[in-house]
Amino acid sequence: MKLLKRAVAAVTAALLLPTPVVNVHAADDNKPTLKADVNGDFLINSQDMVLLSKYLLGAAELSEEEAVRADYDDDGIVDTFDLIGLRKAYIRNAMDTPKGTWIGEGFNGTRYFWFDENGEGTFVRTNGGTITPFSMDKAGSIIMFTLSSGKLASASIAWIDEEHFYLDWGSSPELFTYKSSTRFDKGPYLSGEYISDAGKKYILNSYSGTSDGESISILPQGTSAQFIYEDGSSKEGSFSRMDKNHFTLKWDDGTSENFTRQEITVKNGITYVNGILIANKTYALPSTYAPGGLTSEFNTAFTKMQTTAKKDGMSLSVCSGYRSYSYQAQLYNNYVARDGKAAADTYSARPGHSEHQTGLAADINYAGDWFNTTPEAKWLAAHCHEYGFIIRYPYGKDDITGYKYEGWHIRYLGEENAKLVHDSGLTLEEYLGIDSKYNY
Ligand SMILES: [Zn+2]
Repeated sequence: MKLLKRAVAAVTAALLLPTPVVNVHAADDNKPTLKADVNGDFLINSQDMVLLSKYLLGAAELSEEEAVRADYDDDGIVDTFDLIGLRKAYIRNAMDTPKGTWIGEGFNGTRYFWFDENGEGTFVRTNGGTITPFSMDKAGSIIMFTLSSGKLASASIAWIDEEHFYLDWGSSPELFTYKSSTRFDKGPYLSGEYISDAGKKYILNSYSGTSDGESISILPQGTSAQFIYEDGSSKEGSFSRMDKNHFTLKWDDGTSENFTRQEITVKNGITYVNGILIANKTYALPSTYAPGGLTSEFNTAFTKMQTTAKKDGMSLSVCSGYRSYSYQAQLYNNYVARDGKAAADTYSARPGHSEHQTGLAADINYAGDWFNTTPEAKWLAAHCHEYGFIIRYPYGKDDITGYKYEGWHIRYLGEENAKLVHDSGLTLEEYLGIDSKYNY
């Protein structure tokens, strides 16, 4: 504890005294020490000035704790300079209203607040919840918040410096730290499970989440998002979206990170990525998965496509549709016997890995390179996404899909997903951020 001495009062303290404000808070040992709050009631008001003035005039004593709080400039001496400082603090508390985006830490966890110029604002709890608008009225250091629901809440404000203040809601104070002049409550809201090309796995929930398991807070800032890490470090990325499943953050260090939504669920041994059933070299179907034929969704969409294609002079028909697990096993084993395993793996799927087992894929007209030279191949490539299909194994993507170009093999994804994948120019594997490689 510093030695605190009384200094001679050189100014007439009474001249500095404003009208007293009613004290609504009792002293509380659980609250942090607040400079200028001489009497320890967590309010910086005229009572503190009265007490300090009396002390400087020799008309009152200060306890050790009171002296520490009264020593505004922290020089170990309680003197008139502290009274001048205290007066500034008093005026700031009486006059200043927070503006901009602030982060509050307290019994409510972490909250983001936006205060505009006109006494309106919003707040949200970062661990989930909705943005709540409010308006506020300030009388001295007491702020009355009126929430959009009509609910009222009052708090006293205690400024520490220009970038920090407390709001005391009566139980424990919430410490606010200034973040920026940009409002937080106007997107981008990042939510969902993502992988990034920096090799990280993210789970994002608008204002919070994890990055490779580490907790992060996310602060939306206009067209940017700030990621705040557990150690207090942060980085801001300017946001751009490719489509509903892809976005990029261009970080303030000049690097970029591409995010791909990837929500993998496994149901009865079947893998779904973002709800899309996957059968490729990485993800196998169980032998028990047997829809028994092409699904009704496939057939309905195909018939529609076939009819339109006919008007364009194209003749489309399924030459190979559903294949059971055991039939695929037989096919594959025959190819292995004829050409060897390495060669068979380039054109035939191992049992469980064929998309034909899904009932959502088929070969059109002729399953061989000759088909790729026909007008029907061109028509399919240009139009099949309009009916919910994609060319599953495009040209030059062997390393990604695990298969050479097959212009005849179409996969049903539904119209929305087929259009998204088609417009992205990516293979299904790239679009979902998955690979297609045998791991046995
Ligand atoms: Zn096929």
